Amino acid sequence: MKTLADVLTAVEPLIAAHAADEYPREAVGIVFANGTIKRLINQARSEKRVVASADQVAAALDDSDSPMCFYHSHPRTAAAPSSADRKAMAEQASHASYVPLLIYGIDGLRVWVWHDGDAVEMEVA
Ligand SMILES: [Zn+2]
Repeated sequence: MKTLADVLTAVEPLIAAHAADEYPREAVGIVFANGTIKRLINQARSEKRVVASADQVAAALDDSDSPMCFYHSHPRTAAAPSSADRKAMAEQASHASYVPLLIYGIDGLRVWVWHDGDAVEMEVA
């Protein structure tokens, strides 16, 4: 079983490459516990938000290892949750399929969980 730190070390260059390919739009995808990622299509095609349909997510999860985080990039801002991110996290936190949110921003990669009504950064050690 890989730790979160092991997985993040493995996926950081993959996410960086995805973010660069998608720049200046936000890139979105899924991090798996085996240290791989699956790129999703940002259906918002936006520089400021991400949309990935439930169908798209379901198809990505179908034949894969267990998801560890969802990720998206912040092409021009820090890796902290925006107000839209916080709203989405609050909505998703009650779902059985909830996983933490990884944000790849201009200050690198940070992982956030929804806890007691707020986004809390996970310590990755
Ligand atoms: Zn965001």
